[in-house]
Amino acid sequence: MKHQDLLAVAEQYGSPVYVYDASKIESQYKRLTSAFKKVKHVKINYAVKALSNISVLKLLSTLGSGMDTVSIQEVRLALEAGVLPEKIIFTPNGVSLEEIERAAGLGVQINIDNLSILEQFGTKHPDIPVCIRINPHVMAGGNTNISVGHIDSKFGISIHQMPHIERIVKNTKMNINGIHMHTGSDILDIEVFLYASEILFQTATHFKNLEFIDFGSGFKVPYKKDDIETNIEELGEKLSKRFNQFCKEYGKELTLAFEPGKFLVSEAGKFLVKVNVVKQTTSTVFAQVDSGFNHLIRPMLYGSEHGIENVSNPKGKERFYSVVGYICETDTFANNRRIAEIHEGDILAFSNAGAYCFTMASNYNSRYRPAEVLWYKDEAHLIRKRETFDDIIKNQIAITF
Ligand SMILES: *Cc1c(COP(=O)(O)O)cnc(C)c1O
Repeated sequence: MKHQDLLAVAEQYGSPVYVYDASKIESQYKRLTSAFKKVKHVKINYAVKALSNISVLKLLSTLGSGMDTVSIQEVRLALEAGVLPEKIIFTPNGVSLEEIERAAGLGVQINIDNLSILEQFGTKHPDIPVCIRINPHVMAGGNTNISVGHIDSKFGISIHQMPHIERIVKNTKMNINGIHMHTGSDILDIEVFLYASEILFQTATHFKNLEFIDFGSGFKVPYKKDDIETNIEELGEKLSKRFNQFCKEYGKELTLAFEPGKFLVSEAGKFLVKVNVVKQTTSTVFAQVDSGFNHLIRPMLYGSEHGIENVSNPKGKERFYSVVGYICETDTFANNRRIAEIHEGDILAFSNAGAYCFTMASNYNSRYRPAEVLWYKDEAHLIRKRETFDDIIKNQIAITF
């Protein structure tokens, strides 16, 4: 999107506002599928939690994507967007048996990640096919906040518990139709990922009725200049070859599944904010914007560095700014960042604002969650209205004293 387009969106819908470029989502989807074109059956299940607006789900669905969901509400959102139940996988962590049964009742693929629920579900519903989430204990990426495959992680059933899994499957006569792993949020090293995949292949040989192997996600996208990015093409080349070879050994053409969130939507998103105050102190210049971690928490939660551009003055002389929010809490988006000269009233655009940004927004400080806009075929489409005071008050009950 051009600067004028972003400014026009901020003008028309106000700030702060999220805007997503549909063509970027589309090109990322195509990049991923074409990297794996040598595998006969490939299934991409978009991780709904990254960005769960139903228009985005519909867009991805029209491209052919299925949906990866982690709550019954996400399952319902996907159904609401018109996605068929058989194209939805439910991959929760630590939810109740009842919630899993509700999802199964809606006809979606169930993925179970602990022995207790596996045994209970298998005993009650031996006929419903189930996928098992395996923890291969491989750490992808360096940040323990976002690595979920290592030894003390709460996700998945440990590969060291294979005998236990097999006992449950045998006793309940349940049907395991898929195995799954999701090692972490950053595949920095393809070899590490392939190593984890070998563990999954090894595990697969224990089950005779598999239909698919799900390799989860963790594709890294660049956030700033010179960031390492997962080389999807290289991963596609290597994993496809190994997967096809495995299918021969297994004696069946299995489906290769992935469930990317960030890869598909991160770079498509911009978050537009307005500068309320430029505040010169003795040590720095603050640009205070009409937002905070109530709208975009990743910089504070994960230390992520989102690019920030002054779209009102893109050619201005660059200066150093600390970009902070307007809530009563430390909410620093960026420290000492070089940005084209900022004036009060300017619109700043945060990049990589598609994944885990709006979906993590809250009403802290009783602020409204922003509007969302989809930029589709060179036009802005409002896909979520900005909240109003009614949204803040609607579930509150004032009792009488
Ligand atoms: C969050 C999640 C994903 C998506 O991860 P990204 O890093 O956004 O690609 C995939 N699978 C599961 C099970 C998840 O919880």
